[in-house]
Amino acid sequence: MTDAVHGQRSAELAARLAAVRERIAVAARAAGRDPGELTLIAVSKTYPAEDAVILHTLGVRHFAENRDQEAGSKVKLVTHRLLGVTATPDGGPVAAASPDRRGPGEAVRAEVPPSPASAAAGMPATVPAGPTWHFVGQLQRNKVRSVLRWADWVQSVDRVALVDGLSRIAVERGWPLSICLQISLDPSRASGGADSGGVAGSGRGGIDPGASGELADLVAQAPGLTLRGVMAVAPRGEPPRPAFARLRTVAERLVRDHPEATVISAGMSGDLESAIAEGATHLRIGTALFGERPGVP
Ligand SMILES: *Cc1c(COP(=O)(O)O)cnc(C)c1O
Repeated sequence: MTDAVHGQRSAELAARLAAVRERIAVAARAAGRDPGELTLIAVSKTYPAEDAVILHTLGVRHFAENRDQEAGSKVKLVTHRLLGVTATPDGGPVAAASPDRRGPGEAVRAEVPPSPASAAAGMPATVPAGPTWHFVGQLQRNKVRSVLRWADWVQSVDRVALVDGLSRIAVERGWPLSICLQISLDPSRASGGADSGGVAGSGRGGIDPGASGELADLVAQAPGLTLRGVMAVAPRGEPPRPAFARLRTVAERLVRDHPEATVISAGMSGDLESAIAEGATHLRIGTALFGERPGVP
């Protein structure tokens, strides 16, 4: 990227970020909420690593990806750039502070010593540097190890069968993994029932609300995992607000049993106002920040 092109893209991203922040502030005020309690997550899928670096310099500290392969190399590149290391052409590995914990070439995140506060709280000896990375895609069991090379959060846990592997590998890698349960907001599944693996109705994934309590208990008890709350995508073909209202009900039930699980990750470029009105704490924004995605799902 030439300096001129880079400067142009920086200006575009700065303008888009300001517009998104303004939308969030307006929606928060309308809902009687403090915009400061809302976390913006930039969904950088399909966009280049350099865009994430630019947004980081503009103050964005959370990024989300939905494909492991794309994310792994992007996180490497972003880590290189932010730590002032020159990236190798293939975005080659960053040296890990504790090579004994990871095989050669496995390191995606560089590690930094923890703050005195996190050390006092019994946090691990080293923590990953750079922004916080969220995985929001459909998770296959055989991808868990690879995703946990780079992800601080997995927001798309939608079945019991994932929990053991997530827990085991989170313990192995040595830094904690934050978890959101992905809830299906398909109205035909709202009454609950068996775990159907997140592939019914709207096709947007998630566990039936009625089955989420058992999944929450499992995650909360699993070593290496921290239950943070719920995540959902509004169903197609229905206004988003009543769907997000259903999510809020699920979240309220969850927090009664797990008081620390306060996150409601909801709201995308097209529906963030509805999500904020229904209590969202984390907003996952892609196209409004980066521009139209070039013909990718
Ligand atoms: C792509 C994606 C987003 C962002 O969507 P936009 O409409 O581009 O803002 C949010 N959440 C998930 C799970 C996604 O896959």
